[in-house]
Amino acid sequence: MRRVDVEHDKEKWQVSEQLCQVIFSNIGDTVFLSDDAGAFTYICHSVEEILGYSPQQIRALGNITALLGENIFAPEQLDALGKISNIEREITNRAGTQQTLLIDVKRVSTQWGTVLYSCRDITEYKQALVALHQRENQIRTLVENSPEIIVRLDRKLRYVYANPAVEQATGIPASAFIGKTNSELEMPAELVSYWHASLEKVFETAEAELIEFDFPTPSGVRSYQAHLAPEYDEDDSVEFVLVVVSDINQRKQAEQALRKQAEQERLIAAVAQRIRQYLDLAEILDTTVEEVRQSLLCDRVLVYRFHSDGSGVIEAESVGENWRTVLGTNVDDPCFTESYILPYQEGRISVFEDIYTANISPCYIALLAQFQVRANLVLPIFQGEQLWGLLIAHHCAAPRQWQSSEINLLKQLATQVGIATQQAELYHQLELANQRLQHLALVDQLTQVANRRRFDEYLALEWQRQAREKGQLSLILCDIDDFKRYNDTYGHPAGDDCLQQVAQTLTHVVHRPCDLVARYGGEEFAMLLPNTESTGAMHIAETIQTAITALRMPHLHSRASNYVTLGLGVASVIPEPKLSPHELVKRADGALYHAKEMGGDQVVASQVPSPLLKAEGN
Ligand code: GH3
Ligand code: MG
Ligand code: MG
Repeated sequence: MRRVDVEHDKEKWQVSEQLCQVIFSNIGDTVFLSDDAGAFTYICHSVEEILGYSPQQIRALGNITALLGENIFAPEQLDALGKISNIEREITNRAGTQQTLLIDVKRVSTQWGTVLYSCRDITEYKQALVALHQRENQIRTLVENSPEIIVRLDRKLRYVYANPAVEQATGIPASAFIGKTNSELEMPAELVSYWHASLEKVFETAEAELIEFDFPTPSGVRSYQAHLAPEYDEDDSVEFVLVVVSDINQRKQAEQALRKQAEQERLIAAVAQRIRQYLDLAEILDTTVEEVRQSLLCDRVLVYRFHSDGSGVIEAESVGENWRTVLGTNVDDPCFTESYILPYQEGRISVFEDIYTANISPCYIALLAQFQVRANLVLPIFQGEQLWGLLIAHHCAAPRQWQSSEINLLKQLATQVGIATQQAELYHQLELANQRLQHLALVDQLTQVANRRRFDEYLALEWQRQAREKGQLSLILCDIDDFKRYNDTYGHPAGDDCLQQVAQTLTHVVHRPCDLVARYGGEEFAMLLPNTESTGAMHIAETIQTAITALRMPHLHSRASNYVTLGLGVASVIPEPKLSPHELVKRADGALYHAKEMGGDQVVASQVPSPLLKAEGN
């Protein structure tokens, strides 16, 4: 670089000054020079850009004191220090507004002056700084007054800042947080590990995290959501994590209420569905009490059914582990019956938060105390217009404030249960009617033994079975001897009595459940004996003969005896597919015919030679 050789020569001076101007203009500062007394000796052009005054106008002021209102240095001080830096001064510029200058003053030794002032306009910077301060103050106020908890933690997971809102949630003043970790603050262990894991993650990944947690505040457990944001240092690594914690308890409660409502609707739909699907009342009641208890989270749910005398029985129960089961208990308490049934008949619902503070009679309290009840919710179940029973929820552990949504749920379920009972009743009646019809269809009305239709069905069935099992099937056909004469002698009603007695005697002779006694027609009876060989059948036939004789029912005009007697024909076969059941009847009938031919009152076995008659060795 060319060295500037300065001399008192005017031309050279101008050259040098121009050069200075260029240099000083480019460094962005404006420069003055003065002598030791502060009189200006040199003023840079760029002063005009800062203050609006030309160098000539400044120079006309004469000295630095006139410009700044004071001489900002004492020459001795400057001599001692060599340089005084960063002096801030306010100057009113030509336009009349305040400018802030940052001035460095330096001792120099030039022919243009002995003191060098470098001035930088920091007005905008100062304004920005003030604005920044104001903004910072605003933010600080916002943070300090925020209902949300705002904390900042360092890499060692110690609090470096906590706003006053932490105190309300934790009971610990904000100042006590500083420098401590969550475990040192004795926060719940589970929460400490969750928080620490989340904070570590933010430090590691430098990505914000959103977490939710429950916290036991002094006024009960509340739900919170925390936004964890990284804050960087100059090296762009995460220095702090800023955490903003919002109380989302209300939102959570709303969510919970919605979930609960959906759950209750599902429960009602499920019970209704069950009622439509299967008609077994006990099963409907059992699942209903179970699901209601799970939904209400109470200690016991009951279905109580009234008897016609006002007493009743606990028909279904779901009960928590710690509480006594009362299923099947009969309640016949005049106290309850007298004062409490009537209101239920009128559709009243009982809601007792605490039976000991509710206005109820001591005898009813005693009844409830037997069941360990503390809080009680009771709804009537109607079958049509009639009070059928009660749907009851018990809370045993403590008093309980029943919610209107819970009462509503039980109300709807009580209606459903009422429908179920009605349906079950109808179904029961239908079943009885069916049974009666079936009975009518298969039982002989006079003698109450199986009728011919039943006999034919059973014969076909047993024929198949014995064919499969290669068992023997025996048939005894009995016919009352000279029964026409019996009727003629004693009258038709006596004939009916006689038929009844004979039928009864026949049923008493056989013992196996698979044996069937049937009225074959008129005064003839059939006895079908599955798995019975002919010797066994013969034995039974003889037992019948003896038993009938033993009745000693007078029959004076019988040609066989003076008493009622039977002719009996016995046949046995091992059924085969190529034979029909009719074959067996034919053989027994043949044997009966022989018995009759021989004067009645005797047993005759089928004599037809057949490979089927195994027991006879043919
Ligand atoms: P046998 O010794 O040859 O069997 O002569 P029987 O008189 O017993 O036989 P028959 O077939 O001639 O007469 C049967 C009688 O049974 C005729 C009928 O009046 C009577 N009878 C059939 N069903 C009933 C009934 O339900 N009640 C009464 N009282 N009598 C009946
Ligand atoms: Mg006959
Ligand atoms: Mg007869």
